[in-house]
Amino acid sequence: ASSALSDYEKLHVLGHGNGGTVYKVQHKRTSAVYALKIVSSHSDPLVRRQIFREMDILRRTADSPHVVRCHAIFDQPSGDIAVLMEYMDSGTLQTFLRSDHNNTCGVSEAVLASIARQVLRGLAFLHSLSIAHRDIKPSNLLVNAAMDVKISDFGVSKVMCRSLDSCNSYVGTSAYMSPERFDPDTYGSNYDGYSADIWSLGLTLMELYMGHFPLLPSGQRPDWATLMCAICFGDPPSLPEEASDEFRSFVECCLYKEASKRWSATKLLTHPFVLSKLEAV
Ligand code: ADP
Ligand code: MG
Repeated sequence: ASSALSDYEKLHVLGHGNGGTVYKVQHKRTSAVYALKIVSSHSDPLVRRQIFREMDILRRTADSPHVVRCHAIFDQPSGDIAVLMEYMDSGTLQTFLRSDHNNTCGVSEAVLASIARQVLRGLAFLHSLSIAHRDIKPSNLLVNAAMDVKISDFGVSKVMCRSLDSCNSYVGTSAYMSPERFDPDTYGSNYDGYSADIWSLGLTLMELYMGHFPLLPSGQRPDWATLMCAICFGDPPSLPEEASDEFRSFVECCLYKEASKRWSATKLLTHPFVLSKLEAV
C-alpha cells in the first residue's frame, strides 16, 4: 500500500534501544496497527549506518514467517528514517522473563521447544541467505498472541562474505556473545558467524527456563569482566537436573565452546527436543 508517514498516528512508545525509538502506530484510514521504528537525523553516524544495514536486510527477509515483516521504509527529508513493521502484540521474550511473577523456573519445556523451532527456522532462513544476526537475545525475539516468535532487530547483523576480516568486525558487546568472539584463536579463528547465533540461542533458551541469565548466579547484576571470564574460561553452562534429557542435550549442542562443534540451525531442527515436543503446544 502506498502511504506516507503522515497517514499513521502514534499511539505510544513500545521500546527504546540504541537504535532509536519504536512506537505503536495506527493507520488513520484503515485502523490497522503497526510498529514504527524511528531513527532521528541527530543520532550518531554509527547508529544511522546500522539502520541502513537493517533496512537492507529487512528488504531481503520478507519471505520468512519467523522474521519480523517490514512493510515500508520512510526516508524523511529531515533526515529521519522510519521503518514500518508488523506489530507483535505480546512484546518480546524479555517480557516473558519479567511477567512470570510467581515463577521459580520460568517457561515450560513444551513452550521452549516451540520457541526453539521457530527461531531455528528463522535462523536457518537467514543463514541460507548468508546473513548472521549477531544479536540473538530475548529482547530481540518478538511474540504475538498466537505465540508466533519472530526474529527482529537487525541493527548489528551482517551479510557475510568470505573475508574473515569483515566477519570479525562486529565490535558490540553483549552478554550473549560466544567464546570465539573474544578468543578466536582458541575457539574458532575461522568461525563463520552463524554458529555465534546458535550459542546466543542456547543461552536464551536456558535463561527462559531458569528465569535468570545462566552464566551468572540468580540475582547477580551483569558485570562485564565476570561475564567475559565465565564465557571464555568457564565450562559451558548446563541445565539443572530437572530438565529433560532432550532439552539438556539440545542446549549442549548449542553451547560447545568451540564454534565448529556447535550444530547448525538446520541440524538442530532435527534434534529430538524440537521434534518430540512438537505436538505439545
Ligand atoms: P534496538 O536496536 O533499539 O534494540 P529494536 O528493534 O530491538 O531496537 O526495538 C526496541 C524495542 O521495541 C524492542 O525490544 C521491543 O520491545 C519493541 N519493538 C520493536 N519492534 C517491535 C514490533 N515489531 N512489535 C512490537 N514491539 C516492538
Ligand atoms: Mg534490540
